[in-house]
Amino acid sequence: MAVSEKIDKSECFVTKGKMALPNQYFAGRVGSKFIISLRDANKILGVKCSKCNKVYVPPREYCEKDLEKLDENWVELGNEGVITNYTVVNYSDKHLPVKSPYILALIKVDGADTPFAHIVQGIAPEDIKIGMRVKAVYAAETTNSIRDLDHFEPA
Ligand SMILES: [Zn+2]
Repeated sequence: MAVSEKIDKSECFVTKGKMALPNQYFAGRVGSKFIISLRDANKILGVKCSKCNKVYVPPREYCEKDLEKLDENWVELGNEGVITNYTVVNYSDKHLPVKSPYILALIKVDGADTPFAHIVQGIAPEDIKIGMRVKAVYAAETTNSIRDLDHFEPA
């Protein structure tokens, strides 16, 4: 007999609620250097594997293929790149970075082998295309987050 079959549900009382759960976490040594570079130098940094030459953005500590340690092999990348995939976010929620509808794209910046997700603005959702070139637009004021690179827009 399953446990749920033993429970007399007439004795259960369920109440629904919502939780606000503010939180913070350490971005790590590699993630911190990446975000500080965006904030202080408006430069996108990646890490390069010395074995397979793969360049990771956002940077990571180890190569997923070779398990090589990458965090001392930084490379500076371009502020432009290409959209490799995208979606249009059509719902609103207070945890989302901008008001919907907005474009969330995977962007492979020049010199990188991996794409990373970011917002694309300055183009209507119906006009965006995979393969389109975009450029980074940095925030006028820091938020100490990935949003110091505020968004990408058509290049
Ligand atoms: Zn590698």
